[in-house]
Amino acid sequence: MTKTDKRPTRGILPLISLLTLLVSLSGCNQANTNQTSTVETSPQAQAASQISSKTKVVTTFLPIYLLTKAVAGDAADVQILVPPGTEVHEYQATPDNVKAIATANILVKNGLGLEEFLENTVKNAQNPQLVEIDASKGIKPLNEISPVETTTSGEKDHDHEHAEGNPHVWLDPVLAKQQVMNIRDGLIAADAKNKDVYTANAAAYIQELDKLNSEFQQALQKKPNCTFITFHDAYPYLAQRYNLKQVAVVEIPEDQLSPTDVQTVVNTVKKYKVKALFSEPGVDNKLLKSLSQDLKLQLQTLDSLETGETDPQYYFKAMRLNLQTIESACQ
Ligand SMILES: [Zn+2]
Repeated sequence: MTKTDKRPTRGILPLISLLTLLVSLSGCNQANTNQTSTVETSPQAQAASQISSKTKVVTTFLPIYLLTKAVAGDAADVQILVPPGTEVHEYQATPDNVKAIATANILVKNGLGLEEFLENTVKNAQNPQLVEIDASKGIKPLNEISPVETTTSGEKDHDHEHAEGNPHVWLDPVLAKQQVMNIRDGLIAADAKNKDVYTANAAAYIQELDKLNSEFQQALQKKPNCTFITFHDAYPYLAQRYNLKQVAVVEIPEDQLSPTDVQTVVNTVKKYKVKALFSEPGVDNKLLKSLSQDLKLQLQTLDSLETGETDPQYYFKAMRLNLQTIESACQ
């Protein structure tokens, strides 16, 4: 972030100078009534200029939106590029996304290779002023910690084999804290006039993340090495933080499991003495349901927060539900 210093007042300064100019003009030129009336409507003009001068921040997808909105509050105008409910891993940018980036001051991304759509979209937006904040800056990514058992017919439709490691760092409250700090520092560097707001908001959110972290620690230390299988390689950071074992990621096709696929999953479950199968909210996979019944394992849902509500408090709501789910699955 080297190009962040001088931008926050862009837009408001010329307007102020223009108003000053109009005031001085009207002061010495009584005949110029039009310009005088422009100056007289200044409360509205000021309000309008305040709206337009708010720093415009675009974020990539839901978790990054939540963390950024938490830090920015109402001091900046925060938008989201990938609408919640849309798959981020294979997202295709829209013309509106290009427009949003073209007119933004700041772009906040998760990084670690997650937002594959971003590079070209930013290029197309041609916004040389844009400041990019990498929320995962300084976080050491994990590569695969769980063997991935791919079923024979499994298409790699949710491919996480990024060169930069696993990107799902926001699902560990401690790393989410690091992301909040990165976002806070980036916003302050790009928009110094709101430093106090960003600092206070970040501190409050970090305090909540600390609280969440102790809740996870306290609840899960009673269940060491609880072993689970997931169908989305989203939880290695959470597992590592709280001594759970995400032993395998089973990649399955969406339409039909072949008998060989079923056998792969059954073998995996036996091999690792798995306690739980974790699916995701909104995924209505009949295959997983019948499979879990065959295996006499509970099929529960963990929320990776890639979709959900846009209130920053949603992070805590969803993570506390995840904690309950893990606790009950790890009995
Ligand atoms: Zn994911």
